[in-house]
Amino acid sequence: MTTVSAWGAPTAGAALVPMTIERREPGPHDVVLAIDYCGVCHSDIHQARDEWSGANFPLVPGHEVVGHVTAVGSEVTRFAVGDRVGVGCLVDSCRQCAQCHDGSEQFCEVRTVWTYNSTGFDGVVTQGGYSGQMVVDEAYVLRVPEALDPAAAAPLLCAGITTWSPLRQWQCGPGQRVGVVGLGGLGHMAVKLARSLGAAVTVLSSSPHKRPDAAALGAETFVCTRDPEACAAAAGQLDLIINTVSAQHDYGQYLQMLRPRGTMVVVGIPPEPSAVGAFDLIRGNRRLAGSLIGGIAQTQEMLDHCAQHGITADVELIAPEQLNAAWERVVASDVRYRFVVDCRSLAAG
Ligand code: NAP
Ligand code: ZN
Ligand code: ZN
Repeated sequence: MTTVSAWGAPTAGAALVPMTIERREPGPHDVVLAIDYCGVCHSDIHQARDEWSGANFPLVPGHEVVGHVTAVGSEVTRFAVGDRVGVGCLVDSCRQCAQCHDGSEQFCEVRTVWTYNSTGFDGVVTQGGYSGQMVVDEAYVLRVPEALDPAAAAPLLCAGITTWSPLRQWQCGPGQRVGVVGLGGLGHMAVKLARSLGAAVTVLSSSPHKRPDAAALGAETFVCTRDPEACAAAAGQLDLIINTVSAQHDYGQYLQMLRPRGTMVVVGIPPEPSAVGAFDLIRGNRRLAGSLIGGIAQTQEMLDHCAQHGITADVELIAPEQLNAAWERVVASDVRYRFVVDCRSLAAG
């Protein structure tokens, strides 16, 4: 075991504090990585505050990890010391079931082992990337292209793949009009990725002051969702909506903005359920769908696409000591557009 410095929540809803965690000794297939940067996802906050219930404490969040390899097990073939690597939301699965074979490890029929707040096949509860070092089986480690700035690439490991996967599933491309609800971490990646696939993007935001940012990110249209007239004008306009909102809200308001046979994909996970009116679906044969991150192969596809198109997140780099203040800003929808923790001060001692 190696003792590693980390920041985590001792109990549900407590402020994050410095702590130490243990990482396993690397097995033959394991990669040891020194964590350089870790993005702050709203899911970190939901879980550390136990808003989805059932969380394990102490809890070290973080599943947008970029680091470099410091050691490899004897059987590792894909990575070498010094390589720049990433770890996203999942670190293991059964590798045998139909979903694993299909590259959908997030739906493993036996168990998906999440990067934190999850029990590994060794029975140990996983701890995340707000820390100095991690040990992960090479099959769940991503290659982060050198062309990408490593701090700005970290959010691709969750915000990137979570928006890329539904854009691909619903064939985002030229001629399509894509709406993005909520301009936060996921939302700003959805805008960049949908643009890079050739779609025209409309941002649907509750924050009118984000209008210039939406344009700078590549959105053609901005609709303030607090403005009833602007919302009425957007009715029936969109082929696909990626809904990233983290708090309970009315899905019907956005379903009405779909063209006939359009689809709204929910990726935001408000702790409370939202009601859906049947007429909002039935008029126009509209579809309401969901999407959970993406598998390992699709995450690599997204990283390579981002390298080709020069896409990274817009980040504010913070020290671990700034985490609690940063979380408050995320909850207040005041992030432009992803906080990333500089974890280099936590390197394994
Ligand atoms: P974030 O940076 O906080 O962005 C969420 C955005 O939602 C905010 O910036 C805000 O945008 C909007 N919003 C927040 N509260 C709102 C309210 N009450 N009414 C209307 N709009 C509101 O969060 P994130 O990291 O992008 O994550 C978003 C959600 O996705 C979280 O629930 C997270 O847990 C979930 N998530 C899901 C997956 C998955 O696999 N499905 C993966 C990662 C994260 P505006 O200011 O523009 O309105
Ligand atoms: Zn996440
Ligand atoms: Zn499986």
